[in-house]
Amino acid sequence: MYNFDAVIIGGGLAGLRAAYELVNNKIKTALISKVYPIRSHSNAAQGGVNAALGNIEKGLPDNWEKHAYDTIKGSDYIGDQDAIMKMCKEAPYRIYEIEHWGCPFSRTDEGRIAQRPFGGSGFPRTAYATDRTGHAMLHTLYEQIMRKNEKNKYLTFFDEWFVTKLIVKDKSVKGIIALDLKTGDLHPFRTDAAIVATGGVGRIYSKSTNALINTGKGLAIAYRAGADLKDMEFIQFHPTTLYGTNILVTEGARGEGAYLLNNIGERFLKNYEDSKRAMEIAPRDIVARNMIREIKKGNAVNNLYLHLDLRRLGEKLISKRLPGVIELARKFAGINAITEPIPVEPAQHYTMGGIDVDINCRTKIDGLYAAGEAACVSVHGANRLGGNSLLETIVFGCIAGEAAGEYLSKIKKKNERMYLMESALREEKKGIEDLYKREGNESSFKLFEEMSIAMWNNIGIFRNEVQLKEGLENLKRIKERCNNVGIRYKGKRFNFELYWLLELIGSIDIAEAVIMGAIERKESRGSHYRTDYPKRDDENYLKHTIATYSPEGAKLSYKPVTLGYVVPAESYFISRRILTPLLPSGSPAAALCAAPAPCILMENTALPVRHRF
Ligand SMILES: Cc1cc2nc3c(=O)[nH]c(=O)nc-3n(C[C@H](O)[C@H](O)[C@H](O)COP(=O)(O)OP(=O)(O)OC[C@H]3O[C@@H](n4cnc5c(N)ncnc54)[C@H](O)[C@@H]3O)c2cc1C
Repeated sequence: MYNFDAVIIGGGLAGLRAAYELVNNKIKTALISKVYPIRSHSNAAQGGVNAALGNIEKGLPDNWEKHAYDTIKGSDYIGDQDAIMKMCKEAPYRIYEIEHWGCPFSRTDEGRIAQRPFGGSGFPRTAYATDRTGHAMLHTLYEQIMRKNEKNKYLTFFDEWFVTKLIVKDKSVKGIIALDLKTGDLHPFRTDAAIVATGGVGRIYSKSTNALINTGKGLAIAYRAGADLKDMEFIQFHPTTLYGTNILVTEGARGEGAYLLNNIGERFLKNYEDSKRAMEIAPRDIVARNMIREIKKGNAVNNLYLHLDLRRLGEKLISKRLPGVIELARKFAGINAITEPIPVEPAQHYTMGGIDVDINCRTKIDGLYAAGEAACVSVHGANRLGGNSLLETIVFGCIAGEAAGEYLSKIKKKNERMYLMESALREEKKGIEDLYKREGNESSFKLFEEMSIAMWNNIGIFRNEVQLKEGLENLKRIKERCNNVGIRYKGKRFNFELYWLLELIGSIDIAEAVIMGAIERKESRGSHYRTDYPKRDDENYLKHTIATYSPEGAKLSYKPVTLGYVVPAESYFISRRILTPLLPSGSPAAALCAAPAPCILMENTALPVRHRF
């Protein structure tokens, strides 16, 4: 039995940032990750991270309020405005912090952190490290944690350990159970605080830019233990992924000026009302939908895909700012992106919903926190702006670590849990032994594939009641068939038949919450586009969907959205002109706006003492 004050599930940017905070506060912490932390999906982030640094001149200077305004608008008004303001206000500080820790951001000619335009943003606000921003940030954070840990050893890594269960009693966290994939043994961890930082759920879709590890199992663990899920129906589809493999081609390419073209070489986005102004840098949901419409009109190249054309940018700029795009186009499509257009199609990319948490990353279970893509604070609402999720990981990862530390300092530690942990372990062991004994003829790999294809076909970019209900029926049938999955290989080490069955069961829970939320949201908002209800309906649906686990499926309820800063406007473009800050006095939004920004540091200035080494 392991004993830790805090356990973090997930070694991506959110998990590592939370770990940094806990270790800094001398809290004995375990970080459990089913892959080596630096292989987390954060590593794949390309385009950049948003913060109103104002390093690129564009008329009036940028500031955090403009960033917040763009984010609220981008969320189609369903993002919580107090959370958005908190994130945007902290953004410059967190960027300079990680820059001071050594993150190699790309630079302007004057040596400042370079920023590029991204979809839905009014300013070039996305800081980047060429097109490998996630890689640069993840490695920087990992290095800093290793350095910190060298001295105080408060953090223990459990790499290639898979968390299967969260133990909750009397509405508070008591521990977790994890499977050591290398040995196949289950181990209990006693802890008072757990932070879920398990990333997105993209792989419930057959076409996704996400890593294979992004299955949603982490969310399912918290969901089954009693935490709610929020706004799961909002799934983002990215316009430009490599045709076939769906490897992401960063929005940074369009931000730098690449064109999207149809089979006659026309910039077709000009033909659609909602994209004709912003063209290639309109929000992702709009561009993705118009790409599908164009393909359906018969204007796809070879009837299959559209072209992303970087050629006008020239070899020098492409090589300097988008080297990853050149590499992936060459390796995975055999294309020279400097001289040829890249074949692209939309695919699933991001999970706006997640574990329901408040502005301090707290769930409704004491001692349970969530951060990063696994959580829904909610700062992205119905549609995330590119560059805001890397930001969310470092802002709210830190907040989750702080909140868990504060909670631990307040509670009385109890040692009465031995019996509870042992019985939970016995139960989990029995469950897994039963799975090993199964001789059924279904395969977990095949069922996973069928589930993800059903999700793509029935609850994709365009949705309607008939398709959604059919999708739910399909999912129920797949769930039934899970009982008949046989495990042929009986070995314990890296048993992927067992592993994928456990993943599949978690993914189905999540997929069900996505579909059920989508069926009940009878409107179109952000990424959730219902062809049978094409309009946004603020009167009935300006609210968060909450899904609570039950063995029969998700139980849905609703929660109000925190407004108070920007009044929801009818459409994306009108809202630009009628920005009406309300700020009712006494509202959380007003308090946030009035408080001084945490620290707008200029580069090369010293960090506050608390963050110095
Ligand atoms: C291709 C791609 C490009 C992107 N580009 C950008 C970009 O340019 N800008 C931007 O802002 N955002 C971008 N995003 C989104 C952004 O990268 C992610 O939202 C963010 O990195 C998620 O970080 P995270 O820490 O929440 O989770 P992740 O980095 O996904 O980490 C999840 C962790 O959880 C662990 N885990 C999961 N389940 C379990 C379990 N049961 N037991 C143990 N461990 C578990 C995994 O091992 C992993 O360590 C991109 C996403 C993709 C897919």
